[in-house]
Amino acid sequence: METTTEKDNILRGGQFLVRETACEDVFTPEDFSEEQKMMRDTVRDFIDREVWPNKERFEKKDYAFTEEIMRKAGELGLLSVAVPEEYGGMGMDFVSTMLVCDYISGATGSIATAFGAHTGIGTMPILLYGTEEQKKKYVPRLATGEWFGCYCLTEPGAGSDANSGKTKAVLSEDGKHYLISGQKMWISNAGFCDLMIVFARIEDDKYITGFIVEYDPENGITLGEEEHKLGIRASSTRQVFFNETKVPVENMLSERGNGFKIAMNALNIGRIKLAAACLDAQRRVISNSVKYANERVQFKTPIAQFGAIKAKLAEMAATAYAGESACYRAAKNIEDRIAIRKSEGNSHQEAELKGVEEYAIECSILKVAASEDVQNCTDEGIQIFGGMGFSEDTPMEAAWRDARISRIYEGTNEINRMLTVGMLVKKAMKGHVDLLTPAQNVADELMGIPSFDTPDYSDLFSEEKEMIGKLKKVFLMVAGSAVQKYGPQLEEHQQLLMAAADILIEIYMAESVILRTEKLAKKEGEDKAAAQIAMARLYLYKAVDIINLKGKEGIVSFAEGDEQRMMLMGLKRFTKYTNIPNVVALRNTIADKLIADNEYKF
Ligand SMILES: Cc1cc2nc3c(=O)[nH]c(=O)nc-3n(C[C@H](O)[C@H](O)[C@H](O)COP(=O)(O)OP(=O)(O)OC[C@H]3O[C@@H](n4cnc5c(N)ncnc54)[C@H](O)[C@@H]3O)c2cc1C
Repeated sequence: METTTEKDNILRGGQFLVRETACEDVFTPEDFSEEQKMMRDTVRDFIDREVWPNKERFEKKDYAFTEEIMRKAGELGLLSVAVPEEYGGMGMDFVSTMLVCDYISGATGSIATAFGAHTGIGTMPILLYGTEEQKKKYVPRLATGEWFGCYCLTEPGAGSDANSGKTKAVLSEDGKHYLISGQKMWISNAGFCDLMIVFARIEDDKYITGFIVEYDPENGITLGEEEHKLGIRASSTRQVFFNETKVPVENMLSERGNGFKIAMNALNIGRIKLAAACLDAQRRVISNSVKYANERVQFKTPIAQFGAIKAKLAEMAATAYAGESACYRAAKNIEDRIAIRKSEGNSHQEAELKGVEEYAIECSILKVAASEDVQNCTDEGIQIFGGMGFSEDTPMEAAWRDARISRIYEGTNEINRMLTVGMLVKKAMKGHVDLLTPAQNVADELMGIPSFDTPDYSDLFSEEKEMIGKLKKVFLMVAGSAVQKYGPQLEEHQQLLMAAADILIEIYMAESVILRTEKLAKKEGEDKAAAQIAMARLYLYKAVDIINLKGKEGIVSFAEGDEQRMMLMGLKRFTKYTNIPNVVALRNTIADKLIADNEYKF
């Protein structure tokens, strides 16, 4: 395998699968600069002061309060972090923009969604695809929160199949306007927006086109009632009806027929930011859970002392920690790729667009993993609170309801799972990532006699890193054979794709958490990093199990006879520990640290 210390030490998108990464080459939350830490603390203080004490207002559908908080965020400059200085923003690096998104989102999904819809899909399409005039006219207002943005893609008949929308854009006779007519639904921020990114079809074009539409009820725009939702209850979500809404031709975004591309690229950024937005919710749920568990006494014992509760706390923490590791690793890769493109002469716009697109696979991986982790975390949070967890009087049930949407929007997790594998296969076909050679090497290895030597595992994580290498072989074996067997028809075998996606997701998450912790342990020493080492090992242990299960499922779905037997033997070999970790001891180490700190403090 190539290593990242050779020549170009920044991974290309998807390349993590075939390249070994040195821990020094990953960015971790321990590497935040002083400036970044200050930004994080500012955002956290803002949320602790303005949002957390007023949580019940969000549950009572106080939409005006969401708007008020968004305005205050604007006054603090938090809506402008990703906007370049020439358009009135702070022009911060990508990692800092992730940090803001992370810490602004933890207290309530209503603010997380309003923030994401405005700064992400409501603003980014103009920044990434707008003309200079469009950017000068609209972005400064969006950056300060003078105006709020929303993004109108979904329609009653066009959800996951986003390009199938029926909304029409018809050129006026004088050629000066488009007249937009159609129905959009599930539009976040619709109730208080000033600007809409609207996707519509011109004539019978194959692809939709993007437009910037100023909200004006006098211009044929009508809003539906607020939707009554399971969670994110004070996030405004409405239908939007356009009836011959006049939009100047100069408000077309990019070129005619480019809308689907804009929509998809806006979603790439949206996905990694959504993953970040799932992190602080987990930290808060874990901290609240451990505080409650330390205080709640049953059988004359704080429930935190019960093994069953310790196991939950440990697993919640391990996944949150892995999520942080993977999110900031990918964020820095994106940031570095943007810098490389800029140094090669790309404009900021082009560099950002291509920089994020490069890591579209990682963006989808993170979206799926973090949205499912926050769901499990909040679910276990309720369980730790027992009956009180089910009550509106504790923060658990709202956190659980709010978490649910993240698996649905920004592309459902099913769509994102298929995308991860689909995009990787495409990259391989285009020659951007060489999967073929490593897949062939794995096939050769399967035919050969395995080594029975016991390697020296005395260095920290030496067995774990070997395991990561073997897990990558599982993916190459399963996906490589599936591509050979089905070719382009692979996309019709969705259950196989889902299994392959799960393998890929677990590899990225597990590798990220191991590398972060190795870097930390090298800096701080293994004793100081004991709980983190335990979290990394626990995460990997569970990942191995999932990969074993999904690998088996995939293999038997398409291979038979000798081929199946050989691949199942390979799977066994590639998921075998020499020293099976003592998972109970790992969980206790993690839980004891959480219990002593009385919070999630990593
Ligand atoms: C609270 C909320 C806020 C939202 N905000 C916005 C917004 O601001 N702007 C906007 O444009 N949209 C927004 N959406 C819409 C959201 O992006 C869509 O709901 C989402 O893309 C799924 O589309 P759908 O609801 O039509 O489900 P469908 O596409 O009908 O999917 C239903 C189920 O079928 C599965 N499925 C669909 N196609 C396939 C396939 N090919 N293979 C396998 N499984 C498939 C899905 O994964 C899902 O499980 C929001 C939605 C909600 C609920």
